[in-house]
Amino acid sequence: MTDEENKHLILANGALVREVTIKEIRPCIVAEGMVRVLMQLDSSLETVIPLLMAKYPPGKVNYLKKKNILTLSIYDRLITIYPSGKVSMNKTIDEDDALNAITNIMADINQAHLQQSTTNTKDLQDAQERLSNIGPLDLYNCLPQTGCGDCGEATCTAFAMKLLSGDTTLDCCTPLKEREHSNKLKCLEELLGKPLMANMGWNFL
Ligand code: SF4
Repeated sequence: MTDEENKHLILANGALVREVTIKEIRPCIVAEGMVRVLMQLDSSLETVIPLLMAKYPPGKVNYLKKKNILTLSIYDRLITIYPSGKVSMNKTIDEDDALNAITNIMADINQAHLQQSTTNTKDLQDAQERLSNIGPLDLYNCLPQTGCGDCGEATCTAFAMKLLSGDTTLDCCTPLKEREHSNKLKCLEELLGKPLMANMGWNFL
């Protein structure tokens, strides 16, 4: 098949990316019976990648700053996004499955592109990088540690782990909103920075 035949118009009105071309489908080496799909988007992602990574839970993001390459651990697979617009996706069922997943990512890319003029990319990039070195214990140390269960978790440790994986949001910890725990809020601000806290569900208003 030619590139033209493998090209799919996904988002006709997308602000940055609209089409994806399936370049290659091969057996996946980490999941038997599944495939690894290589795709090419129709635009460079050079400037949008740092903003794009802020759209996903920190525990699901791996960012290689030197090369500006983003790997997402979402939809039960690893998806690597390159500045050139190349995308590699493993543990995928078939072409349709790949197109479904890339459709959501393309929507996020277009949204991030529109936010570029209003967001300080360097701040976000710094914050994400800092977070890649932060573990559940660092987050736990900045939580109220009452074990009250208001967040829906049995312990503050469990909450910290879910925060990192993006399975809960900071605002679920209601004691954090109380004056007596303002030191913990400050601790989180120093650890994560405000942009990331907002990304993790904290409302500063
Ligand atoms: S609501 Fe906050 S303080 Fe209470 S258990 Fe959850 S994380 Fe801990």
